[in-house]
Amino acid sequence: MKIEQIDIRKLNIPFDHAIKTPVGILEGAANLVIKITTDSGLVGWGEASPFAPITGDSQDSNYAAAAQLARLIKGSNPLAIEARMAEINRFTRGEPSLRSAFDMALYDLLGKAAGLPLYALLGGEQRPLRTDLTVGMQPSVEQTVARAEGILEQGFDAIKLKVGRPGLEDVAHVAAVRERVGAGIAIKIDTNQGWDYPAAVANIQAMQALELQYVEQPLPAWDYDNLRRLRDKVATPLCADESVFDDKDALKLIATGAVDYLNIKLGKAGGLHTGLKINAIAEAAGCKCMIGCFGESRLGLSAAAHLAMARPNICFLDLDSAFDLEHDPVVGGMQYDDSVGGLIRLDDAPGHGAAFDENCGDRSSLIRI
Ligand SMILES: [Mg+2]
Repeated sequence: MKIEQIDIRKLNIPFDHAIKTPVGILEGAANLVIKITTDSGLVGWGEASPFAPITGDSQDSNYAAAAQLARLIKGSNPLAIEARMAEINRFTRGEPSLRSAFDMALYDLLGKAAGLPLYALLGGEQRPLRTDLTVGMQPSVEQTVARAEGILEQGFDAIKLKVGRPGLEDVAHVAAVRERVGAGIAIKIDTNQGWDYPAAVANIQAMQALELQYVEQPLPAWDYDNLRRLRDKVATPLCADESVFDDKDALKLIATGAVDYLNIKLGKAGGLHTGLKINAIAEAAGCKCMIGCFGESRLGLSAAAHLAMARPNICFLDLDSAFDLEHDPVVGGMQYDDSVGGLIRLDDAPGHGAAFDENCGDRSSLIRI
């Protein structure tokens, strides 16, 4: 089998609610969709959802690099993922979101060629997957609680709150949500690097009684040493997000003793190929993983959901971006089951099962290689 043609196009869809974080505001999908067509007629789909403050790439940089990447792999065997990803990862250390789009299109083709859903191809079986729902930083405690109430009404069992305000301001927001939702709902907070070491100690100790499931990325991405000190100091589990892009980061973080959990995102790792390595390293160290997202549609989320389905060591899900997109440009793929808040369903269509509705998106941006 050979790669015959690659289509590249932009996809822009706003969120109903922008997600404010200490590193910037995520306003929706400013994405890139990749379609790989083979000489056998099989088609693989991938999506990049860059968020520059974290991934370091953008829709424009992905778009500029995508044609070069497409030329690099055109004519080669899409099923030889080890070789294709080695070429793609040699091409650039940057553009992780774009590399993940190509990676998930290759895995989609592998599943279709085998006639297997991706989770089964990876050795997994159906198991229940539930995502949390994220609340961005709100201006007032009342607004934070109102958003949490909405999530509770939809039947979710986990809420993720973005934090990282000055001083101890976050404590009132998180305490008010715990008071409102009661003890039965998991609350996790994500600081997105918004504290330094003293602020992290003070805030996490002040939230001790609120029984947080974990604190995500409390310190700057590079600060592994203070993350280890913090882990020794506080009882609440710590999860690395911006500190772990790839398998090398995972190995260093675990060797440093800095984390309880790792957040795998395909858009940081450059796809499933490296995401699987991160999980394997974590699992060997007794470290559970979460899987997260940026502004993906159900296309990118489908690939992530298949990875989670296939690897029970990935036990926390934050695959909620498609809830908030103003419209859905995807056919097939993962579905949210509204009868149980946050439940994700995958069917047994081969590959990741998701395809882009070609009537959506920016037709004028189409590049065909
Ligand atoms: Mg995070």
